[in-house]
Amino acid sequence: MKNNTHDKKRRALLKGLASIPVLTLTGYQPLAQAAMLSVDDPTAKALGYTEKSTTAGQTCANCNLYQGGDKAAGACPIFPGKDVAAAGWCKSWVAKA
Ligand code: SF4
Repeated sequence: MKNNTHDKKRRALLKGLASIPVLTLTGYQPLAQAAMLSVDDPTAKALGYTEKSTTAGQTCANCNLYQGGDKAAGACPIFPGKDVAAAGWCKSWVAKA
């Protein structure tokens, strides 16, 4: 004999799970490019961000925090929601591990 209370709880749980978007569960992020970080952004200014590095041997492209791979621009966790230039630089530069 089945336990109806147990079945109802299980159905309610499954309904709840079904309402969570699959994209949320998979951590999917769209490939759309974010807006470029402006050098006038207050945090960018505070960290001396520039779109073209003048520090020898240091650019966003070879910073451990750069998430753009070999693209000309990409994400950086220091500036959430914005892309930084691969040729750029800021005071938070960290050598790739
Ligand atoms: S921390 Fe600075 S240097 Fe490194 S990727 Fe981000 S903006 Fe570029």
